Amino acid sequence: MRVVVLGGGFSGVAAVRHLERLLRRRTDVEITLVSRENFFVLTPLLFEACSGRLELRHCAQPIRAALRRARFIEATVESVDVERQLVRTVSFEDTAYDLSYDHLVVALGASTNDRLIPGSSNALTFKTVADALVLRNRLIDCFERADAAADGAQRRECLSVVMIGGGLVGVELVGELTAFADDVLRFYPRIRRDEVGFRLFEAGPRILPEIDAKLAVTAARVLQRRGVDIQVSTAVQSIEAGRVRLQNDTVEAGIIVLAAGIVPSSVASAMPVLHDQRGRIAVDATMRSRSHPQIWALGDCAAIPGPDGRPYPALAQHAVREGRHLANNLAAALDARAPSSFMFRQLGTMASLGHTRAVARVFGLRLTGFVAWWLRRTYYLFQMPRWDRRLRIVLDWTVALFFRPDITRVDLRVEREQEKEAHQLVERASGRHRAMQT
Ligand SMILES: Cc1cc2nc3c(=O)[nH]c(=O)nc-3n(C[C@H](O)[C@H](O)[C@H](O)COP(=O)(O)OP(=O)(O)OC[C@H]3O[C@@H](n4cnc5c(N)ncnc54)[C@H](O)[C@@H]3O)c2cc1C
Repeated sequence: MRVVVLGGGFSGVAAVRHLERLLRRRTDVEITLVSRENFFVLTPLLFEACSGRLELRHCAQPIRAALRRARFIEATVESVDVERQLVRTVSFEDTAYDLSYDHLVVALGASTNDRLIPGSSNALTFKTVADALVLRNRLIDCFERADAAADGAQRRECLSVVMIGGGLVGVELVGELTAFADDVLRFYPRIRRDEVGFRLFEAGPRILPEIDAKLAVTAARVLQRRGVDIQVSTAVQSIEAGRVRLQNDTVEAGIIVLAAGIVPSSVASAMPVLHDQRGRIAVDATMRSRSHPQIWALGDCAAIPGPDGRPYPALAQHAVREGRHLANNLAAALDARAPSSFMFRQLGTMASLGHTRAVARVFGLRLTGFVAWWLRRTYYLFQMPRWDRRLRIVLDWTVALFFRPDITRVDLRVEREQEKEAHQLVERASGRHRAMQT
């Protein structure tokens, strides 16, 4: 019996780890996890990895270290042939190969919604470790250029950051970036704090729609005190290089970040199974596809109905629990037992605002300031699966308390050039090989 899990994020890794435990005596079941990277990212820690409070690698966990008996394959899933029960994957050397399955678990997550606003490719996104590194490099680059600029107007232009989207990701990121700016300013004596500008545009009537309205007001006040210009009910019409167009205005920006919602993985949306109107795989409450019983789906790429019929939100706390529950259901299905419905009541929502501040609603209690920030940090620290990683994170946080921030900009151009050269060499060699065969 072959169980293939696609996607090594929150839900996929949780499902495989739990399956390993449940099926430890079933030597007839082979579990394979396929993911694009050999690590999984604890996204709530990505903000601090971007600002440098946390070493970039420490917000991620190597997948192989988290697994016991499951096989891991680092490859990109291209498509799924549901009739032949085959997954088509491509490894990073462009070698394609197929994997057969008896049960398929789709946990491919989502990506930033770049279909909503024309010109979205001109903005940076914030979803992966690479995104965090790119944004960090761009920020440091802007500070360096502003420091060399001749006058205040040029400095302001370099140092204006526009955030599109006032949901959890947009707000948490802008909060962390204000803290980053305050920390690094000591290295740039020619730049004044009021020359660093942050603007946040939200199409809806308020920021943080995921959280209690009172806490959202508190969060907005905290950010505004730090100089963030928040404009709600303001839909961005289009994005150009270094410019954002609104209904009646155009805003120049040194950095534009797009955080205006997500769309399910394109591979999951393209699978010939039943989907909801947003392109998520339509599953029943047991997380089994409504059209193909040998396919299961969970996390951000699935529409899992809650007790009220509405799909559960795209959040990590849900994804992890869905992973464990799906593993129970899959193990039950393998034993010819009936799977059960997934039911989960959200424990709370927390949003970090940087500068050791956060807002949180936990078990019905509203928390703000340092307590909320500490609670959020501690909670996500324990979401990291292994103690070695947790220890590294705590060490980074401690070092960041006592020492100056790191403004090293890691340039990846050389590595990219080397990769390109290596690729050309392989192409040439295989061309020669083909020529010799003919
Ligand atoms: C910056 C940020 C901060 C967040 N903060 C919070 C928070 O504080 N609290 C909270 O509850 N939620 C938070 N979230 C949301 C949370 O991260 C997601 O809900 C969660 O990651 C969903 O889990 P998932 O397993 O469905 O997808 P993911 O965790 O995204 O995993 C999908 C996996 O599939 C892999 N993959 C995708 N496509 C392919 C392919 N074609 N081939 C191979 N592999 C592929 C990806 O590389 C990834 O490993 C945050 C999200 C972001 C972006």
